[in-house]
This record gives sequence, C-alpha cells and structure tokens, in this order.
Amino acid sequence: MDRLIFLGTGDAMGVPRVYCDCEVCTEARTTGVNRRFRSSVVVEGADGSFFIDCGPDFVTMMESRGQRFIERILVTHAHFDHIGGLPEWADACRWMNKKGQLYAPQEVLDVILRQYPWLDRNLNLHTVDHGVILAGWDITGWKVFHGKNGYSYAYRLEKNGYVWVYCSDAIALPTEQKLPLYELDLLVLGTSFYHEEAEFSTRSVYDVTEALELISEVGPKQSIFTHMSHDIDLRRKYNLPDRVEFAETGLERWVGGKISKNIPEVDGNIEANQVEFGIDEV
Ligand SMILES: [Zn+2]
Ligand SMILES: [Zn+2]
Repeated sequence: MDRLIFLGTGDAMGVPRVYCDCEVCTEARTTGVNRRFRSSVVVEGADGSFFIDCGPDFVTMMESRGQRFIERILVTHAHFDHIGGLPEWADACRWMNKKGQLYAPQEVLDVILRQYPWLDRNLNLHTVDHGVILAGWDITGWKVFHGKNGYSYAYRLEKNGYVWVYCSDAIALPTEQKLPLYELDLLVLGTSFYHEEAEFSTRSVYDVTEALELISEVGPKQSIFTHMSHDIDLRRKYNLPDRVEFAETGLERWVGGKISKNIPEVDGNIEANQVEFGIDEV
C-alpha cells in the first residue's frame, strides 16, 4: 500500500492570510493547528512517489519533510497556488544536474510554458491527456468547472482495485463531470469555506455544505476536505458525518491496497491509520 500525505491544505492565499488578524489566522501564526500551505499532496510507496501540484510553498514543504529532490510532479491547473513553485523546483533540478518530470494536460503545459518559458531546460514535460501511470497508479484526468476561475482538472487514480480522486479546485460540477466521482474508495475535495455567502458568480470552489451534498450523491467510502481558507477552524467541532474529515498539514492515509490485519507502522500516526482501517473494514 502507498501513503497519501497532505503537504498543503490551504486555499490560494494560504493560512494565515498575510493581511489578516482573524482568530484563525492568529492561531495559525502561533500554535499553528490552522497553518495551511497551498494545497499539495504526495503519494509514496514501493513503486515510487509523486507530488500533485507545486505551489509557492513548495520549498517550505520540502524543507519540512527534509526532502532534497522530487522527480515527478502532476499538476491540476496553471493557477499560481498550484504552479508557483515550479521555477524553484526546476532550479533545484538544474543545481543537482537532474531532470524533473512534470505531468499535466497539454493545455495546462502550454500555459505553464508561456508563464515560465525556461522550465523545459530542467524539466521534461509530459502530457497526460490520454492518461499516465505514476508509481504504479493508473491516472486519468478530466476537466472540472472552477467557477469564476474557469476550469481545473481533477484526477482519478487506481491501483490494486483501490480508486480515489483528487479534486481540489471545483464547484457546481455538471452531471457529466461528476461521473468519475462514483464508486470511490476516497474522494479528496477542495472546500474553501464552510458556507460561502458570496454571490455564486464570484465563487470558484465548493463550500463544505455543498460538498456534503455531493458526497451523499456520489457516495465515496471516505472523504477528505482540503484547499481550505481561514474560514475553517480545525479547533472547532463541525460534526461532519462518519468517514468525512478535514485534512490538516501532514495528515497521512493509506491508499492503494486491500486492507490486511497486519497494519504497517507509520511514524507518529498510528492512531490515524487505525481510524482508516476501521473505516475500510466496515
Ligand atoms: Zn487552488
Ligand atoms: Zn484570517
């Protein structure tokens, strides 16, 4: 089995927001339960590893893991909070005399190269328009509605019969874009606010109340919310349904295999793993 680790769980601004003195941002600056880097995950296991997205907190996340190099990064879309770290990654590759492997839909690669035209000196760019296999995961992407921000991509990942989706930036998905969300072991979904009051035309990511409706419609076995703004306070009890939780920085979950009774030990996160095993055994 592989580990899915949440490196960043924040919205486009991260938490704390630099201008903000609200209670959540203040807590994020001190004890740090709500400290959120821009959204990114790593999947790692015996077949290798890859990141999804490479925002402006890339270096901070690498440093906090004590990691010097990542070879493969899959990107969802070309917004700053998902690609802002690519130049630093490419530069690190240059200094290490290694090539990074960047995976994204062709139209996303085109935008990335317009923005950072020098990246392909140190990164090999791979289109995922017809799917890709990374670390043994069979991955297909599809275009998802991203509200006022246009479109993003979500990814459906499958290995050993285990299927999960990473969909960090989407809202109000039309029926056909929801089809890949059925029959999932795990849905990772972006929810910027608990209940966002702003006019719909100005919004770009699901809120928690809408996400819960989506979950009851498509029925994943387990769901994790990410891409959260300073509206979400992880010290509060939100009474989410069973099998639905907020991600926090460093959260780890097992993905990609059938559940066995021999629970492999993961540093410092035994409790979390037991919770997941409990869920999957039902
Ligand atoms: Zn985003
Ligand atoms: Zn704030």
